[in-house]
Amino acid sequence: MSTGFFWDERCFWHAGGNYALTLPLGGLVQPLAAGGLPESPETKRRLKNLMDVTRLTAELDCRTAPEAPREVLERVHPATYLDTFKAMSDAGGGELGLRTPFAKGGYEITALSAGLTVAAIEAVTSGDLQNAYALSRPPGHHCLPDWPNGFCLMANIAIGIEAAKAAGRAQRVAVVDWDVHHGNGTEAIFYDRDDVLTISVHQEKNYPLDTGDIADRGRGAGEGYNMNIPLPPGVGHVGYLEVMERIVLPALDRYRPDLIVVACGYDACAFDPLARMFCTAETYAEMTRQMMEAADRLCDGRLVMVHEGGYSEAYVPFCGHAVIETLANAKARAADPMADTLRQRQPNAAFNAYISGVIGGMAETLLD
Ligand code: ZN
Repeated sequence: MSTGFFWDERCFWHAGGNYALTLPLGGLVQPLAAGGLPESPETKRRLKNLMDVTRLTAELDCRTAPEAPREVLERVHPATYLDTFKAMSDAGGGELGLRTPFAKGGYEITALSAGLTVAAIEAVTSGDLQNAYALSRPPGHHCLPDWPNGFCLMANIAIGIEAAKAAGRAQRVAVVDWDVHHGNGTEAIFYDRDDVLTISVHQEKNYPLDTGDIADRGRGAGEGYNMNIPLPPGVGHVGYLEVMERIVLPALDRYRPDLIVVACGYDACAFDPLARMFCTAETYAEMTRQMMEAADRLCDGRLVMVHEGGYSEAYVPFCGHAVIETLANAKARAADPMADTLRQRQPNAAFNAYISGVIGGMAETLLD
């Protein structure tokens, strides 16, 4: 079976404005010469372009998908939120929640972004594809049912999981979120439930500032089924792989999901303007390999990766290519032009030893 790649040019047409990075324009904030919000089409489109140049796309089952229909969206989002969003989108766009601007037609593009994730999960859980990557844009992991934030307007992954559950194609789902920011939306949506394990690896107190604490483990039936792994700034290749080996993989083995979904952000990469981590394309390839092995061990290889953040226009394409070429066991390769430099810039042994202690402490807390 093959690897699916779900994308649509229309997702690159989602537009927001009035920001210089995440600084609101006005007052003393001068507009940037090139673009505003870091959540721009370029990080994503340039990934697709690189895949075309290396001919990786030729080795994949490339598909688009319909917009997620209203009843599918309503399994996660209340009708009042969808109505408000649609009305504002029809009227020319605007901004809802926090840092989530959109232009006219933004509602339909966001429903398409969710639709790509829904279709990717459907194809993998129905046995049509071995695994899949959804290049969804706008991203989704920050979005709460009725409060969009952090560039996320609909909860793509949660919508996809609920669709698969409603169709009886998945019972126990694990979400591994390695976007550098806390997956607060996914956490909130499944906080009371034990049928979805949510794990977020993130830079502590980056975004949001008030969520992502290790003590937040879930509530009621969901107690113990939410895991936050907040890392101090500066963690690189060695630290991330250690987090996966000592916490994430054992948690997956214990939970025994029938589907693994990765919230695949690239903003823990060394060049990201919004975070301070040191992951490389090789880190992402290796973490993908770890997820594939876990999926093979636990759920017949059923693995869906969904694009989230990542704001280095130049470097995200190499990280994304590394993930997708690994997922597809492809012949096409995109050698990381910064591999040697980034290897030399990695944290030193003393820092890694310190981080190892931090990880060990968290493993004891989370896997007790
Ligand atoms: Zn992020």
